[in-house]
Amino acid sequence: MANPYRALPAVSQVLDRPELRDARQRYPHGDVLAAVRAELDQLRTRIDAGESLDHSELLTRVLARLDAAAELRPVINATGIVLHTNLGRSPMSDAAAHAAYEAARNYLNLELDLTTGKRSSRQDAIRTGICRLTGAEAATAVNNCAAATILVLRTLATGKEVIVSRGQLVEIGGSFRIPDILAVSGATLREVGTTNITRPADYVQAIGPNTGAILRVHTSNYRVRGFTKSVGIADLVAIGRKHGVPVIDDIGSGAAVDLSALGFVPEPDVREGLAAGADVVLFSGDKLLGGPQAGILAGRKHFIDKMEADPMMRALRLDKMALAALEATLRQHPNAVGELPIYRMMFAPLADLRTRAERFADRLRGVVSLTNVQTLEDVAYVGGGSLPDQSLPTVVVALTAKASEAEFARRLRVGRPAVVCRVRDGRVLLDLRTVFERQEEDLYTAVVSACE
Ligand SMILES: *Cc1c(COP(=O)(O)O)cnc(C)c1O
Repeated sequence: MANPYRALPAVSQVLDRPELRDARQRYPHGDVLAAVRAELDQLRTRIDAGESLDHSELLTRVLARLDAAAELRPVINATGIVLHTNLGRSPMSDAAAHAAYEAARNYLNLELDLTTGKRSSRQDAIRTGICRLTGAEAATAVNNCAAATILVLRTLATGKEVIVSRGQLVEIGGSFRIPDILAVSGATLREVGTTNITRPADYVQAIGPNTGAILRVHTSNYRVRGFTKSVGIADLVAIGRKHGVPVIDDIGSGAAVDLSALGFVPEPDVREGLAAGADVVLFSGDKLLGGPQAGILAGRKHFIDKMEADPMMRALRLDKMALAALEATLRQHPNAVGELPIYRMMFAPLADLRTRAERFADRLRGVVSLTNVQTLEDVAYVGGGSLPDQSLPTVVVALTAKASEAEFARRLRVGRPAVVCRVRDGRVLLDLRTVFERQEEDLYTAVVSACE
């Protein structure tokens, strides 16, 4: 039998193919070369695995790989993870998306008071909404919660010490690490307590003439269990008041909706820290707020004013599209569960998900290249570094195709529209909880073309 590796074309032969001429003009040579090499490698891996080879698709796959690498585009999220950080966290409501669209394609009263004709602050549009939601006296917003943390620490504690429990020196994905953020903002970290236990006295003993603030950080993406103690926000506020030290509460996800109906241990609510007397509370716009990427700062007016006067504010401020989307999201919050996509997904009844999954599975049963189509009970997660160990029951469509599950999932990712799914035990799992009903037809087409 002929050596199957020999049948593979050389890189240079592939590059010379006329089908790639267009792509070679559009993409840098290095990118095309890398795509060809990667696809040839994939073919070698498949030969290694004993698959009989058909490389008629090689060029299509090179082109698809280049396309997939080249642009941002909508992805169908069939993972069931509602706040998927790699997929842009929270999808916005139509109202918020529309507000961003209108802000993008028009001029708008970003910094102009239309009544007086005088200059206004771009933050005015979102202040009322945040204050209504949180009960705060004043509010502002910046680019994300990391930026909010830097800004608040600069304003309250540059050149001073910030007291943080050792149990809260968290890393929230990639480059957000509390000690690093403190360093960037010019404050000095004063660690107190231990990983599992921090007591009120630990904070009190650390307070001195150079204390700038007490910072509480919600341990969004992990839990310490067992013999643990931390100091609640009310106690921190009491300590802060007694010693004249401001208290900052970084709550991260910023739950503004009661999630106890889902059986979740509550995330810090956007109102509770302020109600307890925290001076500034901060949270993300695109986690449980369900809006655009943003960092919300809510609290005492003199601190908010000071932050807005900081030159850093200019570097961290939101653009007009995010501001418009955030304003619209905040306006919908009184009815968040009915109007914001993330809450509709989280609160979708299991029976509805089952019906949708079964209907979708039935349609796929007619597809010959799928060797098995089933619906299964499974669990999904909220994600986005919130509610780390709390799952949502769900129903998935489990598919087995002739190709391996990894290959099937890859084809779904590079297809158009791109589909991201879960893969387990030889199967591709589609969780419709995070698939909009308007996307189901496209999902069907994508699955059919990926398993051909
Ligand atoms: C997610 C999170 C952040 C970072 O928020 P971004 O909006 O991603 O910058 C900061 N602190 C906590 C506690 C978080 O959960």
